[in-house]
Parts: sequence; structure tokens; C-alpha cells
Amino acid sequence: MSVQSDPLRVAEHAVLSATSVARWVANRFEQVQSISKNDKSPVTAADFAVQATVSIILRQQLEDAPRIVGEESADLLEGDEGAPMLALVGDAVRTMLPGATDSQVLEAIGSCDHDGTAERFWTLDPVDGTKGFLRRQQYAVSLGLIESGTVVLGVLGCPNLPWSQDQPLDVADSIGTCFSAVDGGGCRMFPADHADSSNAKSLSRRQRQPGDDIRVCESVEKAHSNQDDSARLMDALPGRATAVRLDSQCKYGLVARDQADVYLRLPVKPGYVEKIWDHAAGMIVATEAGAIVSDVQGNPLDFSRGARLEANRGVICAAAEIHGALIEQIASMGIADAVGN
Ligand code: AMP
Ligand code: MG
Repeated sequence: MSVQSDPLRVAEHAVLSATSVARWVANRFEQVQSISKNDKSPVTAADFAVQATVSIILRQQLEDAPRIVGEESADLLEGDEGAPMLALVGDAVRTMLPGATDSQVLEAIGSCDHDGTAERFWTLDPVDGTKGFLRRQQYAVSLGLIESGTVVLGVLGCPNLPWSQDQPLDVADSIGTCFSAVDGGGCRMFPADHADSSNAKSLSRRQRQPGDDIRVCESVEKAHSNQDDSARLMDALPGRATAVRLDSQCKYGLVARDQADVYLRLPVKPGYVEKIWDHAAGMIVATEAGAIVSDVQGNPLDFSRGARLEANRGVICAAAEIHGALIEQIASMGIADAVGN
């Protein structure tokens, strides 16, 4: 395969290929078993197959060997115990990369173990929102590129996110939606069932008018975002606020394409530190479409501290016209004080 120099094209190709791999696994649901990782969160063949696919394509097509901070480790696929899962993962990867052997797949997953301290590295959440994937609802393949602590490129593959904005969000779409963005270069959206991004259209949020309804999105999982605090916050906002719940960084995509005005991720427990792969791609997608992303105190997300957002707590992604008012309201309600550092 040819070596390309344009990281955006390579990243879009990797994510579109991985989206197809994830769908292949989703269509074999009877074979998909979720197993629990050490932190008790679920992982499936799709998580591993997507990580392998992206890792192999980046290595084949980029000029410089990529350093990747990926969410998954290869441990659960090793030995006799991991063999049945590895067989399914290998078959899934070979739907897009026919020459890949099981040992290459294993190696490609294991190589995504960079610690996020380099000057330039990629970060990958192969299936962000695994619980949404298992419910056949929303999940995202999320790939970001970080240079000198700044996210400079992001691609979000959202295989079940309706391409048409009129469709319900809790049903898997047959087309799906991809978003990509580069720092200072804007954000675009293209169908997830295409081989490339040639049908992309630019995204730019329209100006909000005072009194417009405020459309909020938040996690389905109560353990990931404090839904009681968000209900209190929404009550306190001027104007009518309505909430929709969906898994994964698709929420950033909704704000980018003006289907939502706010994505709230309000801390549930003081000790939790957000991971860079849960926000890098989504943040740049929303920001380049005109939204503002910060933590609950209004500070920018700091991607210079390794694999976790050590300097931040919670995430507020909002239309530029209302972000400041939200942060003030959060402060006055004491939500930002309780989270600690
Ligand atoms: P979402 O689909 O938006 O609910 O987010 C899914 C992500 O939440 C997963 O990728 C996890 O990394 C992350 N997560 C796990 N535990 C927590 C927690 N206590 N607070 C916030 N996020 C979490
Ligand atoms: Mg995730």
C-alpha cells in the first residue's frame, strides 16, 4: 500500500475502514461476547478489531511510524483463553485488510501502548461507548492527533448516528456519520458507509438567538455524568432546555452539526479523571464547527499531561453564545467546587 503524507486523509481512511469492521462485528451479534476488563468496563471483538485496523493502516500509510495511545491492551487475546476472541477479531480485520495474520493483529493492538508523553502522538478509542454498541445504539471510533499538547486533527466515525438529522437517535442508522477536523482548518461531515470522504460537507454552527431553546445532550450512563446536576442546571437556565441521552463522542458531533447546543459531562465522583481518547477527536470536531469546549471550571482541556486529562474535571461543550453563562451557572450552583483535583 502506498505511503501518503496527508495525515487527515490517512486518518479518515483508517476510521472509515474501522467503521466498516465494527459494523461487520455488530452484524454477528450472536458471536459477540462482552468480557470485563480489570476496571469492570466491557470490551468486545469490535474494540480489538477496530484498534488493530486503525493501527495497521496508520503504520502502512504514514511516513513516520506513529506513536499511538490506544484504549485497549492485547492481554485478553493472548494464550489459550484469548484464542476464540482473537479468531473473531482476526476475521473482522481481514474484511478490510485481507492479508493480515492473527499475529500481526495481536501485535498491532499491543503496539498502541504509548504513554502520551511524546511531542507528537495519536490517541485512539476504538469503540467509545461500548455500552451503546452492545445496546445497538450510538458508539464512535475516535482518532485524534496531538502535537505539543494541542489536538491538531480528529476523526470521529459514528456508524449508527443517523445521517439524516430527522431520524431518532436511539436507533442504528444504515448510513452513519463521520466527522473530521483539523486545527484552524474547519470541520466536515461525510457519510460513514462510503469508502472515502469525497462527499464531505463543511459544518459551521449558526448563530444562536436569545430565547432559542437549549438542546442538551448527556451520557446514557448515570455513572459517567451527573444527571441530577444537569437537570438542576437546565432548570436554572433562561429559556426552555431539553435533554437527549446518547452514548459516546457522538455527542460532540451533535453539537458540531447544530443538532444540540450543549454537551454536559458533569463529574459524578471526585476521583475520576477523563481519558484523552474520550475527548481529543470530539473536542476538535466541535471546536472547529464553532463551539467552545472546557472543563466545568471553564479551563481549556489540557492534553499535555499524558493519557489522562489530569488538570481538568468534567467537560462542557457548548455553543459559543452560551458557554460563558453555563460556566457561571455551574460555579454559582457549586457543581465545580465538589469535584476536587
Ligand atoms: P459516554 O458514552 O459518554 O457515557 O462515555 C463513555 C466513556 O465514559 C467510556 O469510554 C469511559 O472511558 C468513560 N467513563 C468511565 N467511567 C467514567 C466516570 N466515572 N465518569 C466519566 N466517564 C467515565
Ligand atoms: Mg471511551
